[in-house]
Amino acid sequence: MENVVIIGSGCAGWTAALYTARANLKPLVITGEQPGGLLTTTSIVENFPGFPEGVDGYELMTRMQKQAERFGTRVNYCNAVQAVDFSKRPFELTAGGEKLEAKTVIIATGASHRHLGLESEDLLEKKGVTYCATCDGALPMFRNQPLVVVGGGDSACEEATFLTRFASVVYLVHRRDSLRASKIMADRTLANPKIKMVWDSAITEVLGVKQEKVTGVKVKHLKTNAEHTLDCAGVFIAIGHVPNTGIFKPFINTDENGYIIRAGGAATNVPGVFVAGDCSDHVYRQAITAAGMGCAAAIEAERFLAAQNA
Ligand code: NAP
Repeated sequence: MENVVIIGSGCAGWTAALYTARANLKPLVITGEQPGGLLTTTSIVENFPGFPEGVDGYELMTRMQKQAERFGTRVNYCNAVQAVDFSKRPFELTAGGEKLEAKTVIIATGASHRHLGLESEDLLEKKGVTYCATCDGALPMFRNQPLVVVGGGDSACEEATFLTRFASVVYLVHRRDSLRASKIMADRTLANPKIKMVWDSAITEVLGVKQEKVTGVKVKHLKTNAEHTLDCAGVFIAIGHVPNTGIFKPFINTDENGYIIRAGGAATNVPGVFVAGDCSDHVYRQAITAAGMGCAAAIEAERFLAAQNA
């Protein structure tokens, strides 16, 4: 029987692992399908304290994992947890086809990329439609080609700026007439001569299904309803995230968008199940806040176990 099972291996998961390992609880981390979480797909992280020159997202996560393992964290790479039963203690989890029992669980499953919801988007995924510029931007198919980025937040600005290294021009299509991104990111984006803003607009179709590769997008101006086509070789979608909480919903309270509701601190509505990071936070969504929440969840799990044994 495990003392603590941590589901997810982003900033929240590894920080929870570090703290519970140092409390001698020998935590088990189940990494999920993307070990290291979404930060491994970002380029340079400039706002994590302690790295004045910035740090590569993948490197930051690798360092966090090493630090957690140094104190006795064990890692299960068997992809995702398929099912949980939090109706009784010990809790039951099914991961990689095997059943596990746990005295406490920390949910740190993060969030996944939001999709536009177009049929043509799905049909052309990996054929020019992508959700990660850092992962795919350097592919030959995108070199010296016009590219489209969708969104108006920090991710869209970061992706658009990154893609100017490869593209002939980057069109940033946003549904409003101002960016949601932080001022520094927005200013950098608007000042970049290779980025052309397409304001008040939505993509209604990704073109190229017959050719089996993206050839362009249909764009609708939301104020005039006028439609036009932009030729491009790639569409990079950066319109936010949806929390990875589906399997917990039979037991754990979530809000209308699926974010886990914290019942004070890092507690959920089930005593012994704690939560940390982006799967319960739609407000801050930063690496550093996820790490802080991982620490809080670990301390609460440790106190919960101590109280059970008292
Ligand atoms: P976000 O801040 O939620 O922005 C999502 C953007 O997509 C918004 O501009 C939104 O438009 C647009 N959008 C949402 N649904 C859409 C739809 N169905 N169709 C078209 N557009 C849609 O998400 P994010 O940019 O991924 O950032 C998430 C968090 O990570 C933020 O807290 C951000 O600060 C942080 N982050 C930080 C960095 C960094 O500091 N290096 C980098 C990336 C992300 P509206 O504006 O109209 O709502």
